[in-house]
Amino acid sequence: MNVDAGEQVGLSCPSCSPDLETVHEVLTTGGGHVTVECGECGHVHKESLESEDTEAVDVVVSQDGESFTGRSEFGPEETVYEGDEFIVETEETIAQVRVTSIEVGPEDRTSRAAVEDIETVWTRAVDNVSVDVTVHPREDSDEGSRSLEVHVPGDFEFVVGESVEFGDEEFEVQGVHVRESAEGDYKFPKLGQDGDVVFAKDVKRVYGADESSAAWSAW
Ligand SMILES: [Zn+2]
Repeated sequence: MNVDAGEQVGLSCPSCSPDLETVHEVLTTGGGHVTVECGECGHVHKESLESEDTEAVDVVVSQDGESFTGRSEFGPEETVYEGDEFIVETEETIAQVRVTSIEVGPEDRTSRAAVEDIETVWTRAVDNVSVDVTVHPREDSDEGSRSLEVHVPGDFEFVVGESVEFGDEEFEVQGVHVRESAEGDYKFPKLGQDGDVVFAKDVKRVYGADESSAAWSAW
């Protein structure tokens, strides 16, 4: 690690997130160590600067229809899998991302690869995501279904049977179609039982029942 105080780096946090990296701010450097503070829980800990050799890999991040390129450090023995999450730093931004595919050669993409074989890791940002929603009208309405896109943190929970409100839009979640890359984390690729919970970053599409005007007309 070659960092200065005030910089932000992605590190695992022994207090709140030992397995996934969180954003840390570098407080002090010196003596072969850096002192860092976890941006999630505020835990302060030291990290050794004598880290093993790492390899920098090109990472493409898509976020809300745009994409930018950064680099991430991996251990030389590491294997990167589709679905892995880590933090990418570029000059403009720092983002939590999830691997969508791994390029190991021209037009050759795979779902897992050793770091030494990787040319580019393709990812999408999951700290903030856009979610597609189809809202069905109430039964007594003559309007058709409509589509909307809502912007939420990646760990926002859609709960089947519960109502959510975004600006003027209000709907009850009736079902959620899970992204292929996250299907392993859920019972079914399509969830529709009351109480089923899906994180926004795992959502392919939410299906809802319109409640935008039902609140008062029902009375
Ligand atoms: Zn923490």
